[in-house]
Amino acid sequence: MKGIFPTDRFGGLRTPFYYYDIELLLRTLDAVNEQTARYGYHEHYAVKANANPRILSLIAQKGLGADCVSGGEVQAALDAGFPADRIFFAGVGKADWEIRLGLEHDIACFNVESLAELRVIDELAAARNQTATVALRINPNVDAHTHAKITTGLQENKFGITAGSLPGVLDAMAALTHVRFFGIHFHIGSQITDLPVFHELCLRANELQDELETRGLTVAHLNFGGGLGIDYHHPNRQPVPDFENFFAAFHRLIRLRPGQQIHFELGRSVVGQCGALISRALYVKEGEMKKFAVLDAGFTELIRPAMYDAYHRIENLTSNEAVETYDVVGPICESSDVFARERELNRVRRGDLIAIRSAGAYGEVMASQYNCRRLPEAFFSDLL
Ligand SMILES: *Cc1c(COP(=O)(O)O)cnc(C)c1O
Repeated sequence: MKGIFPTDRFGGLRTPFYYYDIELLLRTLDAVNEQTARYGYHEHYAVKANANPRILSLIAQKGLGADCVSGGEVQAALDAGFPADRIFFAGVGKADWEIRLGLEHDIACFNVESLAELRVIDELAAARNQTATVALRINPNVDAHTHAKITTGLQENKFGITAGSLPGVLDAMAALTHVRFFGIHFHIGSQITDLPVFHELCLRANELQDELETRGLTVAHLNFGGGLGIDYHHPNRQPVPDFENFFAAFHRLIRLRPGQQIHFELGRSVVGQCGALISRALYVKEGEMKKFAVLDAGFTELIRPAMYDAYHRIENLTSNEAVETYDVVGPICESSDVFARERELNRVRRGDLIAIRSAGAYGEVMASQYNCRRLPEAFFSDLL
């Protein structure tokens, strides 16, 4: 599938850089819109997956809302054209200025993760003579069966309000005058490929709504977060993730109340497959036991392998020579700067263009300047 990359036009570009297949992004967004429209669901794109301004504005133009986890993301979403009334603000630690920014723009909802945070939002809203709309993020204690570093819905994780502390939070909330309860929010983890995990989440949500209603609260809004995984091993097999079965599972299992809104905050599955990190092989280093393909990209451009032991498909775009086995490494002065071990690639020679696939989510947005490196540039298929 090397043909999908315009390598002839990559020639003069300084590597490493991100390359975005905009046609695939738009197709993916259409697929999300098609499925959510079927059930009247709302999708708020999780900005943290990729906050490239052009990607954000294309997503905003397709009518999605934004799920933000910092004041910077709220600002980026506003700048990209997301309307404030379609911006949600989540996150376990919101600074006062970030909460004020959300209030100033009258964003749709704060997803609140603790009683301490709820009290601060109430206080800051009161100071502005405003009432903040809040959803409570519940930690449902559902195991996402994904990597430990991207599991968020277990009691041991820092995220959300646990079932045990919920009654206390609700009692305290009843006395607050500048927050309006809107609904409940979940986000149990990321790169979830096991659909029954979401079934369990639906059942927990049904129980919780019953509990809240017996306390006289109306759950106007249910937000199931993100988490749908993508196929990192075979990015060409299903470049647009299976949104159909994902949303159908919720439709089948959620006991919807009249007028209730259902929200999702997919990030990775929206942008993951449209991006690739393109680098050049600097040298092939022949070790005693291994051959290393040393790239000009490192974990400063794509940290997922180092941070989450993540697998990415790697392709030599330049070569059709017989495959050989390499450890594919970057130039950063850290032993963890390894993209893949014992990986088969068409024979690598100095100067070959190497693509690291499925890097559209948690790639460019997590780039750093460690080792005084330059942040990677981005190029778009429709502008090259
Ligand atoms: C990260 C995050 C998401 C998006 O998760 P994906 O796995 O990228 O779909 C959604 N909601 C919240 C609150 C998050 O923190």
